[in-house]
Amino acid sequence: MIRSLRLRLQLFHAIILTAAVVVFGAAFYRQLHRSTMGEIDAELLSGARVLEGILRGMPPRAGEEMLGSLPLELPPAMERRRPPPPRDALSPEDERGGGGFERPRLDFPRDRNSRPGHGVEEENREEERSADASPFDSPRLDQARFGPPLPPPYFAIFANEGKMLRRSEPSDVKIAWNSTRRLIDYRNVEGRREVLLRGPREMLIVVGRDVSSEMQRLTSALVQLIAIGASVLCLGLIGGWWLAGKAIRPIQQISCTAEGIDARSLADRIDTATMDSELQSLGMTLNSMLGRIENAFDKQCQFTADASHDLRTPLAVLLSHCELALSRPRSPEEYQTTIVTCQTAAVRMKSLVDGLLLLARSDAGELDLQPTQIDLKDLSTEAIELFRPYASEHQVELNTTGGAASCLADRQAISQVISNLLDNAILYSHEGGMVTISTSCSADSACIAVQDTGPGIPADALPRIFDRFYRVDEARVRQKTKQGQSGSGLGLSICKSIVEAHGGKLTVSSEPNAGTRFEVQLPRSADS
Ligand code: ADP
Repeated sequence: MIRSLRLRLQLFHAIILTAAVVVFGAAFYRQLHRSTMGEIDAELLSGARVLEGILRGMPPRAGEEMLGSLPLELPPAMERRRPPPPRDALSPEDERGGGGFERPRLDFPRDRNSRPGHGVEEENREEERSADASPFDSPRLDQARFGPPLPPPYFAIFANEGKMLRRSEPSDVKIAWNSTRRLIDYRNVEGRREVLLRGPREMLIVVGRDVSSEMQRLTSALVQLIAIGASVLCLGLIGGWWLAGKAIRPIQQISCTAEGIDARSLADRIDTATMDSELQSLGMTLNSMLGRIENAFDKQCQFTADASHDLRTPLAVLLSHCELALSRPRSPEEYQTTIVTCQTAAVRMKSLVDGLLLLARSDAGELDLQPTQIDLKDLSTEAIELFRPYASEHQVELNTTGGAASCLADRQAISQVISNLLDNAILYSHEGGMVTISTSCSADSACIAVQDTGPGIPADALPRIFDRFYRVDEARVRQKTKQGQSGSGLGLSICKSIVEAHGGKLTVSSEPNAGTRFEVQLPRSADS
């Protein structure tokens, strides 16, 4: 298998071009051969027809002596390139033969070259013709116009059983009888072409002539065709190789640019301005892929920076308290206070690491979910009971509405989602505010929504609210104390990952100073 695109293109191109040149050349040569042979055959057949006409004109019992009155050689070869002179150019006497019956005249069309020894009539006609001839009508001029003279035709007349009745000069040409049953037949014999025509009384008329000059011309035409075809093929292949190189040059450019892109130059893009439309779309696709990779890489960098920053703070607290406690001997109460502070920092770190671990598992599609049939209404009631003390501490009223909403989901994971949302709703509500959990279900999904009457989320922050480590108002968040994995900006992204791992959707809608509503939609199980 050829791995080079350029070579493969060249190979296909070579196959197609060769096939086209061969087919065209073969068709051309075939046509040339057919027309040449057609001309020769027509010429020979016309001669044979003349002989047939003469034989038919003879009385039925005409003997061999009558056949013997036929001339021993055919008139000069048939004119193929020039029409015969008009018949009225000949005198009436010329039209007649002498003797008892009108002597048959082999009225072959005239050749361009006159040959001596064709009798008086012939000479008279020649004289008449030369009297009428234009000054340009000389044999030499004819030869220049029409090429060398054609070889003279010959004929033979055979009786039924193959007995030769009459044959023309030259007598050294071997003319064989043939038991053909066809009315007209053609054959090639030793560089000659012959027509076999069935005449009257089962006679066989054979007319032929040497066609080696035509065959030579055909051979030289074939050689020329092969030479032209080979040149066209060579030129085509060179052009094809050049074109294939030109066509794949932009691909080489693309791979060059792509090779040069690393983590530090992710903002580089492939220059598509000068590319052809097909490769331009490939370049643009790669550019948009590079854009997505750059985006993801930036997010990853930001995520790592945020994670280390969030871990550094409790670590710094932990270290500084340990150093302070160890700087001099302390009372048991002071040690206890230090240990409690360290524990709080460790709990915060643990919650952060747990959150990061959960997100990493979710990204890898390895969240360990144990789906069971659950009712979101039950979970909401449990969560309300759990958060009631916390809510009353913040002077926030808790409500629950809606009916049963069962679905197939991991109970613990969905409880974590509800707790996160409820925690945020209570935390960000004003004193005297109200948080409502409502449940509902449709044909294909079970829904739980947490709505508060808090300050809402600014419209420009809504698209990023589920991003990892994103916090709307860091100063405000830091002032508040939350339970669980709080204050890190991971809560909502964890909720979203869990819901999506169930095949559900987490959406948010918010109005400044009116409140925020988070809605979880989970696909219902078939039997729910
Ligand atoms: P955090 O753990 O810091 O609260 P979250 O991912 O839970 O992180 O929330 C991200 C940000 O979304 C918070 O900083 C907060 O500003 C905003 N937010 C979340 N829930 C609400 C809400 N119910 N009302 C107003 N703002 C909210």
